Amino acid sequence: MSLSQVASSIPTSPTIALNEEARLLREKGEPVIHLGIGEPKNKTPITAILSSAAKLGSGDVKYVPTDGTPSLKKAIVRYSEENYDRVVSPQNIIVSDGAKQSLFNILFTLCNPQDEVIVIAPYWVSYPEMIKMIGAIPVIVTPEDGSFVPRFDEIERVVGSYTKAIIVNSPNNPSGMIYPEDLISKLVDLCERKGFYMICDDIYHKLVFDGKVAIPACKYTQKDVENSKIILVNGVAKLYGMTGFRVGWAIAPKKLVAIMTNVQSQTTTCVSPVMQAAAEGALTGMQTIVESLRLSIQNNRDVLMQELHSFTDVHCVKPQGTFYALPDFKAYCRNSVAKNSVELCQFLLQKALVVTVPGKEFGMEGHLRLSYAGTVKEIMEGIERMKWALDPNAPSEIYIGDRKLVRDWR
Ligand code: PMP
Repeated sequence: MSLSQVASSIPTSPTIALNEEARLLREKGEPVIHLGIGEPKNKTPITAILSSAAKLGSGDVKYVPTDGTPSLKKAIVRYSEENYDRVVSPQNIIVSDGAKQSLFNILFTLCNPQDEVIVIAPYWVSYPEMIKMIGAIPVIVTPEDGSFVPRFDEIERVVGSYTKAIIVNSPNNPSGMIYPEDLISKLVDLCERKGFYMICDDIYHKLVFDGKVAIPACKYTQKDVENSKIILVNGVAKLYGMTGFRVGWAIAPKKLVAIMTNVQSQTTTCVSPVMQAAAEGALTGMQTIVESLRLSIQNNRDVLMQELHSFTDVHCVKPQGTFYALPDFKAYCRNSVAKNSVELCQFLLQKALVVTVPGKEFGMEGHLRLSYAGTVKEIMEGIERMKWALDPNAPSEIYIGDRKLVRDWR
């Protein structure tokens, strides 16, 4: 029996595959360091725990409206006013199982087969796969100058009659770059002139460093939410370190939200009210949590940059936000150890027990994505091990805990 070609063509998520390999190694007692994972180590905010526990304790955990509980929507309305200076109504909001489901619903709602969605490289791995899953075509724009920020004309050049949307993720996973205001404002203008949507994935919008700000796209439109081409995606996963709660949302014109609601009602019905209560607790609780997370991640970024400096052949653009960096490891992708970033990641996991993610998956071959969401100790030890594994002049032996690793490669 033949299976769906579309479904069969979806590759395993590279991060999930690496996580699995690392988990199996850890189970065998191997001291694996994870520089691959995209989640902060903080504890769940207490206000999120209390409000979800209260919901659970009520014993009243049933189906709720597909597009989100009225009280979480109210918290999102307030969040939009406070953080985006944007007036939105509850009918402009749909709550989903993470920002990921919001993005899928948006793409499914906007695109017919063969429609095009512009994606800027480096990009989050799921964008092109989701676009392909719904039968549309990802049109990748890779900055020609080798930077992580495209020029406006590079994007404008690929816009055509099939263009339905562009996805803009700033601060960006995996590069950590914040796109310049000038680029954002020109993109808003382009979308409005040509009539296609700008999907802003703002999941990292407050995790920014050195006083920089990711100016939201809506600052550059005169139009209200109802008439705007800007669709905003956000969630609690990254800002509050609540990845396992699976709550995200989209803000869009009512007619789009209504269709997304139909899509969601036929697939997942609704997000668990327990998890929605948790998200509401996070949004309405003490926001100092976000600031302390931001500060500790900024410090981790500084440690990572410092450690990377000791690699003579590795260049890394200093991240301005998120908890990722995308250093250029091309110098180590053209020898007997590895021919590309995928092989390099496998080598580093097997020989140095460090998880990294290949740049190829983000449209940037020759780079590695490193996460600094963990602890300072992990970052320092992880980079030290990588250096040991890659530097032919490093000592032939290294101790990891009480285990001796011996270099048997060149
Ligand atoms: N967008 C980006 C850019 C991400 O990095 C992630 C998570 N890695 C998501 C969306 C998905 O977020 P969620 O966990 O809320 O589904």
